[in-house]
Amino acid sequence: MGNSSQPPLKGYNNYGVYLREKFGGRRVFKVIVDAGFTCPNRDGSKGYGGCTYCNVDSFTPELPRSLSAIRAQIEQGIVRARENYDAEKFIIYFQPNTNTYAPLETLRALFDEALSICPEDVVGLAVGTRADCLDDAKIALLESYTHRLMVDLEMGMESMYDATLHQLNRGCSHQDLVGVLKQLEKSPLNLCVHTVFGFPGETHAMMLAYAHEINRFPQIKFVKLHHLHVVAGSIMAAQYKRQPFKLFQLDEYTDFLCEFLPLLRPDIVVQRLFGIADLKLLIAPNWGLKKVRIQTHIDQAIQRRGIRQGSQFVTA
Ligand code: SF4
Repeated sequence: MGNSSQPPLKGYNNYGVYLREKFGGRRVFKVIVDAGFTCPNRDGSKGYGGCTYCNVDSFTPELPRSLSAIRAQIEQGIVRARENYDAEKFIIYFQPNTNTYAPLETLRALFDEALSICPEDVVGLAVGTRADCLDDAKIALLESYTHRLMVDLEMGMESMYDATLHQLNRGCSHQDLVGVLKQLEKSPLNLCVHTVFGFPGETHAMMLAYAHEINRFPQIKFVKLHHLHVVAGSIMAAQYKRQPFKLFQLDEYTDFLCEFLPLLRPDIVVQRLFGIADLKLLIAPNWGLKKVRIQTHIDQAIQRRGIRQGSQFVTA
């Protein structure tokens, strides 16, 4: 993995490279599990409708939190990943919705069940959630798995501005995330923060400031960077139809990343540089390229321009 004295392979710390180095060159694949969770800004406890950019229909309909359903998803996911991608090792990834939004004992049963499957080849657990759906006991539960595997806790920052979060119906504030990050300062969990660029009302300078905000927390190990896209079935799709707003085009977003990455702390590993939506649901921006072509386009620009993650990072 790159550090300040050694240029990273792609100009930034790429997650694929990180995994290969960490697991001795083996092919590691994330197996996604939908455990049927919901979100507090959907079920009425903090609001209804979910985040305005989120398509509730794009998620699998709510499953009963059945352990057999989890088992089948993981077993089939592992078989498919072995057959299609020659995957050798697996990270079980609880991804859709808010994966700590349930009572502690429900979570324990789900995670225990998931990690009992193919234990010789499962090397990690990743859990996507919101900062306002974590407490001491849930954090302790996740930490209890770290003695045997890598455990990634992925939290949505989305925007660092409360005015934007309010507009998005997030139902939580940036301070909620900051509070949990502080609480996890010494945690053995690998913390990943997820951000979206291009929300209406945020200027270029406001978006670049995300790098400085992320840099403040040395406990953040991974980031997932996304550009905003409008997907069918979301509240934002209706807003966009009524009054279209500016979204990133590919070249503009590439330029933005080429400014952003030099500001980002050099030790952070970038799990994702852009978002990808099902083309059947994507309303805008449609860049007309498949995922691999977009990745290549951005990677080539980063290399051609000699961009290096952290080259403009200044220690506070
Ligand atoms: S973006 Fe995340 S928190 Fe918001 S509604 Fe969708 S799954 Fe829930």
